[in-house]
Amino acid sequence: MPTIQITGGRIIDPSQDIDQIGDVWISGGRIVPSDGGHDHADVVVDARGKIVCPGLIDVHVHLREPGQEEDETIATGAAAALAGGVTSVACMPNTLPPIDTQAAAEFVVLQGRRAKQANVFPVGCVSKGRKGEELAGLGQLVAGGAVAFTDDGAPVSNAGLMRRALEYSKMFDLVIMQHCQVMELTVGGVMNEGFESMRLGLGGMPAAAEDIMVARDIRLAEITGGRLHIQHISTARAVELVREGKRRGIRVTAEACPHHFTLTDEKLRSFDSNFKMNPPLRTADDVAAVIEGLKDGTIEILCTDHAPHAREKKMRELDQAPFGIVGLETLLPMTVTYLIEPGHLTWSEAIRKLTINAANLINLKNKGSLRPGADADVTVIDPSTTWTIQANQFRSKSWNTPYDGWEVRGRAHTVIVHGEVRHTLGGIVQESAASA
Ligand SMILES: [Zn+2]
Repeated sequence: MPTIQITGGRIIDPSQDIDQIGDVWISGGRIVPSDGGHDHADVVVDARGKIVCPGLIDVHVHLREPGQEEDETIATGAAAALAGGVTSVACMPNTLPPIDTQAAAEFVVLQGRRAKQANVFPVGCVSKGRKGEELAGLGQLVAGGAVAFTDDGAPVSNAGLMRRALEYSKMFDLVIMQHCQVMELTVGGVMNEGFESMRLGLGGMPAAAEDIMVARDIRLAEITGGRLHIQHISTARAVELVREGKRRGIRVTAEACPHHFTLTDEKLRSFDSNFKMNPPLRTADDVAAVIEGLKDGTIEILCTDHAPHAREKKMRELDQAPFGIVGLETLLPMTVTYLIEPGHLTWSEAIRKLTINAANLINLKNKGSLRPGADADVTVIDPSTTWTIQANQFRSKSWNTPYDGWEVRGRAHTVIVHGEVRHTLGGIVQESAASA
C-alpha cells in the first residue's frame, strides 16, 4: 500500500472541527499524523485550491444486485459512487431476493470487496422477505455485516412489528431506517397530491401519508428507546415532527435527498418520469422546510436514494414508470450549488452531513474522519469548477436523472479508498520519482 501525501489543500474535517490549510498523510491504508516525520511519499496529490475531507458516505443507495442487474450491479453502483466522491455506501435490501439472511448480507459484502470501488455496506431487512409480517433474523443479519435495518422501497406498515423491530435492534444499537408512507393513503398515486396533481389529472400521494407514519414511528421510538431514522424526508410537517421529537429527547434522525431540496411538483408538468420518485417532489413550501431543517440541524444527513432503472423502464408512460432517480454522481454538485453557494449551509456543515453524521448513523467507527488511525477514505473536492451534468457519461448503469444538462458547481477531483487512489479526474496525481 502506497504512502500518500495530499498537499496544500483546505482540510475540512467536522469530526475534529478542523478547517485549515495543510497536508494529509496516508500510510498502510490509514490516516497517519501529518507531523509524523515523513519525508517520502509514493504518491503526491496536489490539493492546492481544493477541499480535502473525509470520504463521503451515502447511507441510502439501491444497487439492484441480486436480481435486477440490468439496472445496476454492486460493481457499477460502487463505481458511480466513486465518480461522485462517495467512498462508502449503505445499500438497501429491496433486491431479488431481499437481503433478509446472513448469507444474503455476506453476498453483498463479498461483491463489494470484489468490485474494489467504494466500500459497500449492506442494510438488512426489518421483516422476512420484506413482507411486513414477521421480523427478519436481525442478529443473523448483523453477523453477515448489516449496518442497519429497513424494508425501504416500502414502509414497515404494521405498528406492532415496527415496535418489536425498534425494541430488538437496541440489542445491537443499530438504527431502524423507515420509509415513511401510509400505503392506504397513496394507492394509485404517482406524484404529490395537491394543486399540480389536480391540474394534471394524475393520482396524488398526500403529504399526510408521510406525516402520519413519521408521527407514529417517533412515538414508537419514544416508548421503546430504539433508534429511528426517517429516510428521504420530504414534507414540512414531517420536518417539524422530527424537530419536536428531538426536542423531547427521542432518538430520531433524518436524511434529505437533493431532489427534495432542489425540485418541486411543478416539474411533473413535463410528464417526464425522471421527476417521478417516492416520496414525490412536493411544493415550494416543503422544499423551504427541508432546507430549514438542514440549516437548523433537524436533518443531519444528506444522501441520495440512488435508484437506478434501466432506460426502457423509465421510458414507460408516467403512471407505469417505476419511482426513483439515480443520484450518486450528482449528490456533491447539488449540495454545493443549492445548499452551500446560496449560503444555506457552510462547507463544514454540509461535509458534516455527508461524513461523520452518516458514519455515526450506521456505526462505522473508523470512517467519516481524518483523525490519525481512521480508515484512509478521502475525497478531494474541486469547489470552484463549473461543469454540465451529462447523464450519458455516468458510471452508473442507469441514466435516470432529472439533472441532465444542468450546469453545476463543485466536483470530486480525487477519491481515495482504503489508502488507494481509486478515482481521479486526472492530472493531479503524481507518482514521486523515488517510487518509480
Ligand atoms: Zn424509500
